[in-house]
Amino acid sequence: NILNQNEYLSTLNEPQREAVLHGNGPLMIIAGAGSGKTRVLTYRIAHLIENGVDPFRILSLTFTNKASGEMRHRIEGAVGTEARNIWMGTFHSVFAKILRIEARYLGYTSDFSIYDTDDSKSLLRSIIKEYNLDDKVYKANVVFNRISGAKNRLVSADDYLANPIIQADDEAAKMKEIGRLYKTYVMRCFQANAMDFDDLLFNTNVLFRDFPDVLYKYQHKFQHVMVDEFQDTNVSQYLITRKLSAVHRNIVVVGDDAQSIYAFRGANIENILNFEKDFPDVRVIKLEQNYRSTSTIVNAANSVIARNKAQLEKRTFTDNEEGSLIDVIKAGSDNEEGRLVATAIFEEKMSKALRNENFAILYRTNAQSRSFEEALRKLGIKYRIIGGQSFYQRKEIKDLLAYLRFTVNQRDEEAFKRIINLPKRGIGDGTVAKIAVAASENGIAIWEVVANIGKYASGRTITPIEQFATLIKSFKILVEEGKDAYEVSAHIAKTSGILRELYEDKTVEGLSRYENVQELLNGIKEFVDNEETEDKTLSAFLQSVSLLTNADEPDDNNDNDRVTMMTIHSAKGLEFRNVFIVGLEEDLFPSQMMLESRQDLEEERRLFYVAITRAEKKLSFSYAESRYQWGRLKMCEPSRFLLEVDPHFLNVSNMLHGAPTRESVSPVTSFARNLTQRKPAPTPSSTTVIHTPSEHFVPSDTFDLKEGDKVEHLKFGFGEVTKMDVNGTDRKATVNFNLVGEKTLLLSFAKLRIL
Ligand code: ATP
Ligand code: MG
Repeated sequence: NILNQNEYLSTLNEPQREAVLHGNGPLMIIAGAGSGKTRVLTYRIAHLIENGVDPFRILSLTFTNKASGEMRHRIEGAVGTEARNIWMGTFHSVFAKILRIEARYLGYTSDFSIYDTDDSKSLLRSIIKEYNLDDKVYKANVVFNRISGAKNRLVSADDYLANPIIQADDEAAKMKEIGRLYKTYVMRCFQANAMDFDDLLFNTNVLFRDFPDVLYKYQHKFQHVMVDEFQDTNVSQYLITRKLSAVHRNIVVVGDDAQSIYAFRGANIENILNFEKDFPDVRVIKLEQNYRSTSTIVNAANSVIARNKAQLEKRTFTDNEEGSLIDVIKAGSDNEEGRLVATAIFEEKMSKALRNENFAILYRTNAQSRSFEEALRKLGIKYRIIGGQSFYQRKEIKDLLAYLRFTVNQRDEEAFKRIINLPKRGIGDGTVAKIAVAASENGIAIWEVVANIGKYASGRTITPIEQFATLIKSFKILVEEGKDAYEVSAHIAKTSGILRELYEDKTVEGLSRYENVQELLNGIKEFVDNEETEDKTLSAFLQSVSLLTNADEPDDNNDNDRVTMMTIHSAKGLEFRNVFIVGLEEDLFPSQMMLESRQDLEEERRLFYVAITRAEKKLSFSYAESRYQWGRLKMCEPSRFLLEVDPHFLNVSNMLHGAPTRESVSPVTSFARNLTQRKPAPTPSSTTVIHTPSEHFVPSDTFDLKEGDKVEHLKFGFGEVTKMDVNGTDRKATVNFNLVGEKTLLLSFAKLRIL
């Protein structure tokens, strides 16, 4: 479906069209959620290509690979396969590509490995051990975060040593050796021909700082530079973007300061302000109309974000329908929350003929997914979890990938440590550490030591190491012969013994691990067979896989109709018809760790704003009164954020103003309930209640309640029961309250006392 120019321009409003048609020079769009920022970028790129701009000369930076994939797909719909040539991707993937091409300037080869966070921490653990430091004080995690923070501020190890970043807390004061660890860590990465995630940004900055010719080449190459989600770029990303656009000065950035949610990772909202200083002739276009959500959702979101002090002035309105109110679901426990949300999805799906993919469950932390998974599974609703334990984080997958990495780059220390004794070859950790130290002390590659082990060691371990070396040599030969990624990987999986070991493990877990490895091989086959893959080598495959983020799980091609579950952080930029924001409890959301300062709390509130604005038609909130956390039962207070939403938009106002709650239980609900519940939970549609702190108000047992009884309700005051409605275990009472009139209450929830 190739759109012609007029067609796509006609689907834009006036300021959007201006942005798409904007000629040369810097342009900035800071606008609210759902106002079409991403759409403007997409159409602008299509428009540029239609008007003769070479796609190879367009650089477009997005936040997830998925987002860039979608954008590319849309552009392809408009301009055809030319769209594949756009330089488009995340900061990390685009910079990795540049670093591969220019690796030699920095002393790397283009086959360099990319260390993921686990690799980085494992390397740090080794170094901490070699230095005989107390690993209770020097926690790999903390040291890693310190180093990462420094790199993102462009502070090198030498800078750090010369001028340590002192942090106020005790923990930091104890860690005097961070600078030294940082320096060794960098050296070891370099010797391993490996870069960690932060290096991809840090080294790109070094490359452009120290090699003006290289910078010049890219500055001229990229005629147009676009950045989506500009509010979440950090200083290092911004500096690179600014340099790259310094010659043509065609830079378009779009973002929303109210959606800045990565300050904790160094994203800097100041970039927005700096942009105007760095490009004084910047044209600013405002987009104010939200096309995504109902007016209820837009206005609810506005009412929340208005509480933040630190924000740029802008407004967002919508012409969309008012839509339904926001349901607030209160559950007794986390398990019940899972059931109520799953049942609500089931009911809404059936009554409105929706698909699973119309629904998303968004939470603050990955650990919350469990209760929803269980409940959805019981109802037979398919779901997908984005993030959490990602496919690529599974041990067996990392094991095979480590073999592949080491075959391509024999200096990769972390890959080496993973595979040297896998399957078991009788090589102990001590030997492994000695090899790493020998390589590092002699300033040579690990492979040099392994391939000539006789020179560096003696004794029993020599034979298995020699066998290992022979194995790797045989793998290298395949690569040198020009075999493609699949041929090499399939051979390695078989010959290394990985597949055999998993195959022999006949437990359910063993079988599933075996299947996962097969799945990875299928993925590699697909990579090789894909017509869009130009470079089919193992090295190219590893590049593509090492930068997959949590949001880039392999899609089950023909089975995409699933409820999506993910953290709010990974939901940025996405939209769903129905959204459930769950776990709205104090200390969970806002997170306990974000309550120390106004800035932190405001960042949490922006996160809430991001979550709300993902919904198109229908939004629901849920919270539990108790939940298991870190192995113990915890009583929970409803989140302050619930109280920050203008109550006009909450379903509870319905009840307060006397609108009838739904009386009958739909067949679908009772069916769903039969499927799910041993202990029946109330239907979601009738559990739209708002919690008021009421610990002192202990409802008496309402089991004997009958027509004519006088009762007191915490909120509605005194009244008389006019009707009882018992449907299975679901019991409702209609009460005529003196002040607010008739209400139908669900007895398992109502704070009701018989007088
Ligand atoms: P976010 O801040 O969440 O990233 P955004 O500003 O990038 O949002 P988009 O995702 O581009 O917004 O657009 C939101 C939705 O509105 C999309 O479904 C998009 O197709 C639709 N949309 C944008 N502009 C228009 C328009 N002029 N007419 C109709 N639909 C539009
Ligand atoms: Mg967007």
